[in-house]
Parts: sequence; structure tokens; C-alpha cells
Amino acid sequence: MSHHFDVVIIGFGPTGATLANLLGLTGVRTLLLDRAKGSCALPRAVHFDGEVMRVFQTIGVSDRIAKCAIVNAGMRFVNKDTEALLLDWSRPQEIGEHGWYPSYRFHQPDLERELHNNLIKFPSVEIRTGCEAQVIREEKEAVHVHYEELDSKNHVVVSGKFVVGCEGTHSLTRKLIGEAQETPIEDYGYNQPWLVVDVILHREKPELSDYTIQYCHSESPVTSARGPGLRRRWEFALTEQGRDQPIDEPFIWEQLSPWLDPEEAILERFAVYEFHSSIALNWRKDRLFVAGDAAHQTPPFLGQGMCAGIRDAANLAWKLALSLKGNTNPSVLDSYEQERIDHVRSYITTAIDLGQLINRNNNTDLYEKLNAPDGKMKSIAPTLGKGLAIQENTHVGSICPQPTLTRVGDHPTFLDDHCGYAPNLLIDSKGAEELSDEQSAVLNRYESAGLCVVNSDSEPHVAALLKQLQLNALLTRPDRYILASSTNSSELQTMLDQVPLVMPAYP
Ligand SMILES: Cc1cc2nc3c(=O)[nH]c(=O)nc-3n(C[C@H](O)[C@H](O)[C@H](O)COP(=O)(O)OP(=O)(O)OC[C@H]3O[C@@H](n4cnc5c(N)ncnc54)[C@H](O)[C@@H]3O)c2cc1C
Repeated sequence: MSHHFDVVIIGFGPTGATLANLLGLTGVRTLLLDRAKGSCALPRAVHFDGEVMRVFQTIGVSDRIAKCAIVNAGMRFVNKDTEALLLDWSRPQEIGEHGWYPSYRFHQPDLERELHNNLIKFPSVEIRTGCEAQVIREEKEAVHVHYEELDSKNHVVVSGKFVVGCEGTHSLTRKLIGEAQETPIEDYGYNQPWLVVDVILHREKPELSDYTIQYCHSESPVTSARGPGLRRRWEFALTEQGRDQPIDEPFIWEQLSPWLDPEEAILERFAVYEFHSSIALNWRKDRLFVAGDAAHQTPPFLGQGMCAGIRDAANLAWKLALSLKGNTNPSVLDSYEQERIDHVRSYITTAIDLGQLINRNNNTDLYEKLNAPDGKMKSIAPTLGKGLAIQENTHVGSICPQPTLTRVGDHPTFLDDHCGYAPNLLIDSKGAEELSDEQSAVLNRYESAGLCVVNSDSEPHVAALLKQLQLNALLTRPDRYILASSTNSSELQTMLDQVPLVMPAYP
């Protein structure tokens, strides 16, 4: 049994599993520890977005996940008493710029199963379940994790050059990182108990909407959502009175009675949660990191808690791999929390705004905050906080659309599939022609070290993208976020200068 790893991940939920898959792609020696032996049985995430699907595409599980997900119709907020429409957040039903539908509904255990099964592909990743991390000890060159094998009560010590705590809400790693901080957590004050219920219908019930319906009410708001197949989710804010009541099946069927009778469905599972809204202000201390619910918590009204954890994993994985492969630029690892905190904050504060709408039955003053002047809401797409990028413009820090390439093989190929888990540089024909001999030589050197270069000359969709963005070149990181953009030859030089930030050390 090995005791030394490049990365030890504590927690095999969706964040830890995504991180392990991405590290698996890079060949980094990774150990995954979890105290549990299977997926969490509680009712949790039911929605993810197209950007997250693109992470699954990178890992190689998107096709399997697409089979157990459905395209999300959207969300409608109605007055619970009158059913008058307060806010409409319909989601597009066409493939979007990421190459996937913008929004999906799914069953979290299906997704976790696919992420777990996919790890078989990576010999560099080892999984130890039934193992509870109990002590984390940092030294200069490594971090030691003391864990207990819960069945045998054996105590084992392993070390990692990096340790990432993906342990969810009660994170051991977050406590260690935050213990020296005066204000370790930014708390937004939204704390509310909700009863969450999953049912499986015996047969379709067309009266139940394909939309998620938020029944807004000052005392007893309710969420009703469809899942794949015959799955349905209801969430009930617990009133003062409901909080004292035993939560048992008769109580739950009484709550469900406006929509469903007991003979129409089986009650699959239920749980009471206190929804929180907070962000840890430190996600890194030397060789220690946190990601996912360990770093942030959000009420689920935007369906973005797990998505944020998957974005954390996508932001961190390639940076850890680069550091382990000799990229010693300190801003690579420093940029993780700088980029992610602002990004996740945008989602959490929007979820709280939606929570305020759900917790009452009027809306007018919230329209502006939610960027929905006409009562129609659009999805937010925040950019990364200022981190690795040098430039500041509208493209940098946003996720690059994913065009298809038509000339590289026998059939159209997604850009990400062509480039793999690597940075890419898209350049138009004029930009390529204007490269000096020296710049061309540098670009060739980067290309042989792993940079994926696509000349728009031979790829009409890449040409259209650069034209639409009014750019002559675009540099994208392995997590598909734009690091630099260029409109002329001097900006192109600045872009070339930034390529080493996203590359391992190379000769
Ligand atoms: C009702 C509800 C609805 C939601 N809906 C959505 C949604 O629609 N979309 C969305 O994106 N998100 C949603 N979420 C949020 C989402 O479920 C979570 O954000 C996500 O599961 C967090 O994943 P994680 O991997 O960070 O943590 P977790 O899934 O909590 O995993 C943590 C893992 O760490 C392990 N662990 C903890 N401590 C230790 C230790 N000391 N040693 C070893 N192992 C340890 C645990 O056993 C666990 O397996 C919802 C949440 C709730 C409650």
C-alpha cells in the first residue's frame, strides 16, 4: 500500500470525484479518501448547466451523463395563493455556445456513479473508502493526512505534496486553513430550514409542469421540480409550526396533497436541511486547498452549489498538475482562490435574491437586482475574479465558446475533444501571417510542448468565432476560460508572453 502521493483529496462527492478525474487525465498520482463507502443517499442536486457538462466532456463522461439527464425547461416563480406569474426564467431548448444545452436536470447519485466508474481509466488515481481523515499535519515539503479505516480501526498516515479538502460542509481542511484568520467565513445570513422530498411517480402526470415552479409565499414557500423519467422533487420551507412537528410520512403526504396522492407515487427519500449562504475567505494555505461545499454554501434556488464545486475542481486541477510538472510561477496556485471567490459570490448572492422573492409574494423591487426588468430572467455568467490574467477586457476571465472543427478528421469534432486537456490558441489567418519568424518559432516550440494551435484559415467555425468577438487570436486555459485575447500584432506578442503561465516547465 502506497503512502506517498502527489495529491491527496479528502472527500469523494462530486467535487472530489471531478478533481480526481481531471488529475487522472494529467497522470498525477492521486489518492481519494472518503469516510463513506457509497454515494450520499440524501436528496440533493437536481440541476447542472452546460458549462459543467463541458467539464464532464473533458473527463470523458458527458455522453453517459447526457443519457441519464434531461434538458431543463426552466423555472417559474408564481404567487402561491393566486398562481400569478411573478418571474419567468425559461431556459433555451437549443444547444448553446458551449456545445451543450444550457441547463440539465438529473439525479445526483447517477452523476456520482458515472464520475466514480470513470476513474477506473486512470491508473494514477487510487480510491480508499471507509477511511476517515482525522488529522492533517503540514510540513514544508508535504502534508500528512492521518486517517482511520473505519472497519478495521487501523490508523494510517499518507502524505501528499498537496492536499485538497472536498469534505463538504463540515470540512476539516477549511478549519485548518481558517484557524489563524480573524474572519474565516463571509456569511450572507440566509439560513432557513427546508424539507426536501423525492418521489417516483407510478406513471406520468401531465398536470405537473416540466418547469420548476417556485410557489412564492411569505410563510410557506414551496418548490416543485421534475427530474429525469418519473422522478419529482418537492421542497417545503418549514414554518415555525412545521419545525416542531415530527417529519414523518403522513406529514409529508399532507404537504404533497395539493399535487399528489399517496397512490400516485412512492416516497423515495426525504431530509430536512438548513440552507446556508457563506464563503470561506481562504481557500489555500501553502500546500492545503479547499473546494466545493467545503469552501462555499448556497441555498439551492439557482441549482448552482454542486456546479460551483465542479468549477472549483476544474479551476484547480490543471494548476496543481502544472505545479507538479515544474511550473514554479507562484501566481498559478495563488490565482485559484482569487478567481473562484468572486465568481461563486455572484451565484450565491443571486440565489439569495431569488430566495427573497420565494419568501414573499411580490417582486417589483427585485426585478432590477435580478436583471429582469420585464419579469423575464436571464442566466448570469460571471467572469473569474482577477487572478492569472494580465489583461482586463470583456473576454478575459469568461469561458470560451466551443466551436466544432470540420477539417481535422473524418467528421466534425468539438474543439475541446481535438485539443484535449490542454491550453489552446485560436488564431486567424491575418494574425498568423503577421507573426514574425521569431514569433512563429516560439509558437512552434509551445505547440510541441502541448499548446493546441488552431488556425482559423482551415476552420470556418473558429473564423466565425474570432470574427464575432472581433479578435485576431484567443488564448484559452485547460479549464476553457480565456486567459488572453488579441486584436493586433502587439497584443498578440503580449498573448504569446503569457503562454508559459499555462504550460508545464519545458526545455
Ligand atoms: C436540497 C438540495 C438541493 C440541491 N440542488 C442543487 C442543484 O440543483 N444543483 C447544484 O449544483 N447543487 C445543488 N445542491 C448542492 C449540492 O448537492 C452540493 O453542493 C454538492 O453535493 C457538494 O459536493 P461536494 O463534493 O463539495 O461535497 P459532498 O457531496 O458533501 O461530499 C463530501 C464528501 O466528503 C466526505 N467526508 C467528509 N469529511 C470527511 C473526512 N473527515 N474524511 C473522509 N471523508 C470525508 C463525505 O463522506 C462526502 O462523501 C443542492 C443541495 C441540497 C441540499
